[in-house]
Amino acid sequence: MVDQPHKSPAGEWTYFIKRWRRQLIDQKYVAPLLGIIATGGMVMLRGLGAFQVWELHAFDWMMNHRLAELPDERVVIIGITETDIMRYGQADVSDTMMADLIEAVKLQRPTVIGMDFFRNVPRDEGYERLQKIFDETPNLIGIAKVVDDPALEAVAGNSVLEKKNQVAASDLIVDIDGRIRRGFLFPSAAGDRILESLSFRVALEYLRSHDIEPNPEAETLELGQAKLPPFENNAGGYHRADAGGYQLIMNWRANLSFETFSAQDVLTNSLPSGALRDKIVMIGSMQSGNADVFFTPYSNRPGVIGLLPSHGIEIHASLTSQIISAAFGQRSLIQTWSEFVEIILIASAATVGIVLYRLGRNDFHRVKLLSGALIGIIGVSHMVLMFLGLWLPVVPVSLALWAAPVITRLQKINRLQTLSQVDELTQLANRRTFQEHLAQEWQRSLRSHTPLSLIICDVDYFKCYNDTYGHPQGDECLRQVSHAIGNAVRRPDDLAARYGGEEFVILLPNTSSEGAQQVAKDAAENVRALQMEHKSSQVSPFVTISLGVTTIIPQPDISMSTLVDTADLGLYEAKRRGRNQMVVRLPWTVGS
Ligand code: GH3
Ligand code: MG
Ligand code: MG
Repeated sequence: MVDQPHKSPAGEWTYFIKRWRRQLIDQKYVAPLLGIIATGGMVMLRGLGAFQVWELHAFDWMMNHRLAELPDERVVIIGITETDIMRYGQADVSDTMMADLIEAVKLQRPTVIGMDFFRNVPRDEGYERLQKIFDETPNLIGIAKVVDDPALEAVAGNSVLEKKNQVAASDLIVDIDGRIRRGFLFPSAAGDRILESLSFRVALEYLRSHDIEPNPEAETLELGQAKLPPFENNAGGYHRADAGGYQLIMNWRANLSFETFSAQDVLTNSLPSGALRDKIVMIGSMQSGNADVFFTPYSNRPGVIGLLPSHGIEIHASLTSQIISAAFGQRSLIQTWSEFVEIILIASAATVGIVLYRLGRNDFHRVKLLSGALIGIIGVSHMVLMFLGLWLPVVPVSLALWAAPVITRLQKINRLQTLSQVDELTQLANRRTFQEHLAQEWQRSLRSHTPLSLIICDVDYFKCYNDTYGHPQGDECLRQVSHAIGNAVRRPDDLAARYGGEEFVILLPNTSSEGAQQVAKDAAENVRALQMEHKSSQVSPFVTISLGVTTIIPQPDISMSTLVDTADLGLYEAKRRGRNQMVVRLPWTVGS
């Protein structure tokens, strides 16, 4: 906000606040104060969720720009496509087809099979056979949808698999912007149905075959070398996310690709030998017309216009791969720091911002320094995410870096602007501001044919006052007189200004001569009421002023300077008549 020049200095109270504020800003407290404002502002805005979408997008950008990773060879996807289904002459994946497929997969001896299909009702005559296969395949995990919410209702799993405890939850969790960045280990279900998610269950089975089991002693989940703390609703850039169940932030493989075969590849035995042996096989739909597709941080891919979705099975496979890689100590999980540490980071960035601002020789140099620091912050955040899996609050930290310098700069601009408009000694508007207002009001009155009045006043025998009481006391006298004159002005459009030395002007738009005389009387009375002793005055024991008053309805053929000249003549006349009085001069009386 820009301070307007004081049209009328308000009471002592605002004067006191102003002085205190100026001292605070000028003094050594300014840096800590700015740091607190910058940090507090960022923390508050973040607490309101103002940065959530930016932070998630920054996260996506960093995730997308990581070094390429090799596909996880332990996980293989069998995606059932439209072509595969058409070969069986059915509208959807039939039980016969599923039975054939699972039998073919089993022949290849995978460690565990995750089947992302419900299969809770018969589809065709192959159902009995499929049930029998389910009964004889202890390493096959089917699905149920556990969470019953307004978006998608719960779905039961296959009865045989349910009985044998070979069912896991297929639920996925979508972020506020429609993307998947988190996955369930356990979704939170109504009642006591607590099932592992398909990804987690399959990972557990695989790890069990490698003698890794969850540590039963640990407080948070521990699996091999991985500690898996549950997602909290404000973790990283999230703001009050739904943290129900037990979730992990997904640390996708940088290319989100797994070796993928079609059902046909398996059924016609055209897989490379050992392609599925001792692996995790995830069977899921990859039909073009399927609703089971989702957006992820990888949906924006370089060189591709539009978003590329991922199939549900790819998302389950990614989370499985993430869990087993973490358990083997090969890849980190995405971790976040506590909010307290994040606030410290934000405060540090604000401090760096202040220091760099001080170090900068000029604005250009400051922008260079701050931009360098910004690039540093983004670079470090990116590296830390890429190599340590640590998600830093890059958006609020970057903003905090710039906040204090920007506030300081705006404050300086504001101060310069105020300085250029306000008279230092009296805090009234200065002569330049008066000239600007005069030009403006003259034009306005010219258009609206309204009277414009001007009062010029001058302190009587002020030279003698200075001589008697000294220059500093003279200054004090001017301050008080200006205060008194300013107090005579009441309308918002009126302007009191210091015209020079001990001369003041009051510009009164849309004011008749009578109105102007009233204001002039009030100003003179206010000065008199100060009762400032003036021993060397020849008209009064106290400080007094003389005033010239004029009123003009501006016309195109009258020059603006007429207003000042006429009021000046009034003042001259008041002085000539003995001072401590007011003389009204109207332009047509001039020279008569
Ligand atoms: P008159 O009654 O005719 O107005 O007499 P005067 O002495 O007031 O007349 P003059 O205009 O000659 O004197 C103005 C004096 O005001 C001269 C100058 O020293 C003094 N003055 C001008 N500006 C300031 C200021 O900012 N502070 C102080 N203390 N004195 C100032
Ligand atoms: Mg004077
Ligand atoms: Mg003078």
